[in-house]
Amino acid sequence: MSDDPCIFCEIVAGRAPAARIYEDDEVLVFLDLYPTARGHTLVIPKVHYENLFEADEDSLMAVTRVARRGAHALRNAIRPDGMTVVQLNGAAAGQTVFHYHVHLIPRHHGDNLKIHGRRTAERSELETQASEIAAAFATTGDA
Ligand SMILES: [Zn+2]
Repeated sequence: MSDDPCIFCEIVAGRAPAARIYEDDEVLVFLDLYPTARGHTLVIPKVHYENLFEADEDSLMAVTRVARRGAHALRNAIRPDGMTVVQLNGAAAGQTVFHYHVHLIPRHHGDNLKIHGRRTAERSELETQASEIAAAFATTGDA
């Protein structure tokens, strides 16, 4: 474990910026700063654990419940052809931030995407997208 502050814990605490979409007591949803597609969204637990192997079941269930709702919200907001939902465990698997997170990546036919983008997104663009998806989230129930 590193002593460096975890960037996702910093976002949860409000000490680092993020284009936030949704949060409840256990889960935070925000746009990936290195998007590989428009609307590339991350769903994280507010408590820190590195990966699936350290996660407690209740927290995983909370993240999964919100990820499902987020996928519906993204589908309503962005109208993709499909949705990649992926979660990486360990550097060998491509994990780059060691705080559990689920990627929701809107997909379009022929996009040929990688999981991680190659450039930082424009902050204003992310904020606009976050507002659109948050509006869809608000009208997308748990059921
Ligand atoms: Zn963390």
